[in-house]
Amino acid sequence: MKALAAALVLSCICAPAFAAPSPAVAYRLAPVMEPGALAALKVEMRFAADADGETRLELPKEWGGGEKLWRFVHDLQVSGAASVFEAAPETRVIKAPAGVDLTVSYTVSNPQAADPGVDGSNFSEPIIRPDWLYVIGDTIFAQVEGREQAAASFAWAGTPAGWTYVSDLEQLKDGRGKVNDVVHSLILAAPDLKVETRRTGGAPVRVAVRGAYGFDQKTFSDLVVRIVAAERDFWKGGKTPFLVTLAPLANKAGATSLRGTNLEDGFAVIATPNTPLEMYRVLLTHEYFHTWNPVQVGGLVDGPQEPKDYWASEGFTDFYARRLALRYGLIDLQGFADAWNEALARYWSSGVNTTPNARMVETFWADEALHKLPYDRGSLLAVLFDKRIRDASGGKRSMDDVMFAMRDLAGSTPKTQYGAVAGLFPIAAKQAAGLDFSPEMSRYVERGEPVLLPADAFGGCITVKTLDLPAFDRGFDGAKSAETGIISGVDPAGPAFAAGMRDGFKRVGREGGKDGDSRVEIGYRVIDASGQERLIRYRPEGKTRTTLQELEVASGLSAEAQAGCARAVAGGQAAAAVS
Ligand SMILES: [Zn+2]
Repeated sequence: MKALAAALVLSCICAPAFAAPSPAVAYRLAPVMEPGALAALKVEMRFAADADGETRLELPKEWGGGEKLWRFVHDLQVSGAASVFEAAPETRVIKAPAGVDLTVSYTVSNPQAADPGVDGSNFSEPIIRPDWLYVIGDTIFAQVEGREQAAASFAWAGTPAGWTYVSDLEQLKDGRGKVNDVVHSLILAAPDLKVETRRTGGAPVRVAVRGAYGFDQKTFSDLVVRIVAAERDFWKGGKTPFLVTLAPLANKAGATSLRGTNLEDGFAVIATPNTPLEMYRVLLTHEYFHTWNPVQVGGLVDGPQEPKDYWASEGFTDFYARRLALRYGLIDLQGFADAWNEALARYWSSGVNTTPNARMVETFWADEALHKLPYDRGSLLAVLFDKRIRDASGGKRSMDDVMFAMRDLAGSTPKTQYGAVAGLFPIAAKQAAGLDFSPEMSRYVERGEPVLLPADAFGGCITVKTLDLPAFDRGFDGAKSAETGIISGVDPAGPAFAAGMRDGFKRVGREGGKDGDSRVEIGYRVIDASGQERLIRYRPEGKTRTTLQELEVASGLSAEAQAGCARAVAGGQAAAAVS
């Protein structure tokens, strides 16, 4: 917002007040309807040719695991150019004299036999179905190279009759923003889309839901508004229009899936309809926290190095999703412990928790095992940082003060002095808490030592227990078997084999068990070689031993003692529920 305001002031100095500055790139998006059904999208871009006579156009390439997104671009035409050639599948070089008006148009289509499901990556591709549209801007919009920060306008042309349309792009003032705003967006339209506008703290929050879930729209909107109000209270800000969308992934027996995408001025959730409302509480708190972290507390670097700051942007966000959900009464102490225990089990059973940050960055996108490491490592580090700040200040200060200092510093410090969010953190910590966290950063982030929490890391009535357990071992290739539906990779020396599991059994479904936790019996319903359906149950105990940490809430506490504990653990002034 600050940068935009500055740009507007500047344009008033340079141009006569009556001449509206023309946008550097004008985007227009239109649905292409065949009788009664959506068939494709038509994208049109208008912009002036680059000064050197060669303008490079980058087609959509990858987003959220979806790859080669230019595959969905068809019939690309450029008018106003002398010539156009394909330098790479995703790159067009447009030769045209400096400043000449160019118009690029193309269609995007992605014919699929069914709605997107839990498996595969089609939720990371443009979802253009006959009866609904769900696209993240990154998956459909081309960009003019070097103009990511240039002014842009967006127009949506023609909601099909009987359909409802919603997009965070409607929140661009007068349809104008930066190219990045247009690209980093969500467009959702369907005949059965329901949009509700709620007010909290002065700025409207729109909640758009498509599909039927185990809860009604009002219940979902109530939760969204509670979370928005809580985090606006925490940050004493964020009073700008906001959009939250919920769209369906096809149900799959035995699986729930819930994914959030931060849009800066909104977030988009795509989930299987069987996902219970309880599972949204911490996730939505996480997604809304991104409105500040990293956006307003230092940002990220663009490009392949982006994951280097994830321990701060995602890890601190996970820490705050749990902390603020407890502080504002969205979850109780046990819900808080459960959320942490899920992360701790994942962290200690990941097999990658000693990967140094630089090595993680190199292989982050290729290696799925690494995807949650910065989240978990960063959230655990935030616990250590928070405890050191509270101990050093006699409880007067906490990690909260460092976060607020980061926001203030981000607005007043040249980016060259800190780079991105993880670089701003130690500067803010020194200023707000008088502490130097570089020893922890080099030990746990740079060198990748495992983060072990002390027993009293959270305080109050919560104890962190450190356990020495048999390592979690499913005893066969769980991921591949789930994907193919046929059990494979059974280890003859492992626990599944001992319980009767064999390669080639048909996998019907999983019953029970807890990933990463060898103490919980796991069950698989299978059809064996003789065609009999069987339930094979066993403890997924491997041969090696592993450390596991988990939070334990003291039992038998009175309601009053629990409230006191929640305040001590979640920090802040009051744990009063925000409604
Ligand atoms: Zn996130």
